[in-house]
Amino acid sequence: MRPKRIGILTSGGDAPGMNAAIRAAVRTAIHYQIKIFGFKHGYNGVINGDIIELKRNSVANTIQRGGTILGTARSTEFKTDPGMAKAKKTLKKHKIDALIVIGGDGSMKGAHEFTKKYRIKIIGLPGTIDNDLFGTDFTIGFDTAINSALEAVDKIRDTASSLERLFFIEVMGRYAGFIGLAVGLAGGAEDVLIPETPTDINGLAKQINRNIKKGKKSNIVIVSEGDEAGNAFIIGEKIKAILDEDYRVAVLGYIQRGGSPSASDRILASKLGYAAVYGLKKDMHGCMVGEINKKIVYTPFEKTYSRKKKIDPDIYTIIKILAE
Ligand code: ATP
Repeated sequence: MRPKRIGILTSGGDAPGMNAAIRAAVRTAIHYQIKIFGFKHGYNGVINGDIIELKRNSVANTIQRGGTILGTARSTEFKTDPGMAKAKKTLKKHKIDALIVIGGDGSMKGAHEFTKKYRIKIIGLPGTIDNDLFGTDFTIGFDTAINSALEAVDKIRDTASSLERLFFIEVMGRYAGFIGLAVGLAGGAEDVLIPETPTDINGLAKQINRNIKKGKKSNIVIVSEGDEAGNAFIIGEKIKAILDEDYRVAVLGYIQRGGSPSASDRILASKLGYAAVYGLKKDMHGCMVGEINKKIVYTPFEKTYSRKKKIDPDIYTIIKILAE
């Protein structure tokens, strides 16, 4: 049955483009004469009844803004039975008959648990810079994050080549190397260390040594924060212990999360925000809307977080060949 009153929230880490997704969902809902309400600070807003009606103008001038106008949170209470029961009560009180949840894999898991327990109709949207959700080629925020990281890498390369230094640049990615691989390829890195593949410290040391002997002016190694061999500082120390080569570390950190969303993220967010409301209107729920091969697809919640999206090993091969 077509919903009359939809709720929307952003959950987990913020990502550029979340506002563009909220805007698209709000405008689409209004177009179809569906009322739409925003919950503040992720699932906490549903638990505490922190709700506002979103009108056309509520989302004016937000498509270009980073972060999320609804605020986001990691809600531990929502993981408990009483927390979820309170959330269900809020929805009943405000007669909300469907929800749109924008977030990462944790948020999709939370949505799935809520659906299983109370039969709430929910559609998810992939909003995370990590790009680690199964069911979409790209997540909202990934493109902006890699562009922000790339800007920093380019600047570091200027100083790295002037001073002929070895740099370890740490990028975000606790469990996934998508950011690392993309930044490594686009930034012309000598090597990329990611959680999905084993790191060979001795092999890396040999390669850096060869590069120095060849007369390479700069050596840039991108390190995903979650690499199993350690963070950028630890890797730097391990290499120094073998090569006795001076090095510098740059941790890019939260700059990767912020900023105005790129054109690609705004386009993706607008399409998916529209598709979420369209899906609910067609009585689709219990799934996340994503884009695969330029086509909108709806993937059951469980698959989005239980299946691991695979990195493209060819990218790693290309990085190595281009750095020879
Ligand atoms: P990011 O990828 O940016 O870290 P995320 O959505 O994966 O985003 P998480 O902190 O893992 O971020 O999850 C967001 C929220 O989803 C949690 O704080 C919690 O409120 C909810 N959540 C996660 N797992 C569950 C669960 N098993 N049951 C209920 N709620 C959950």
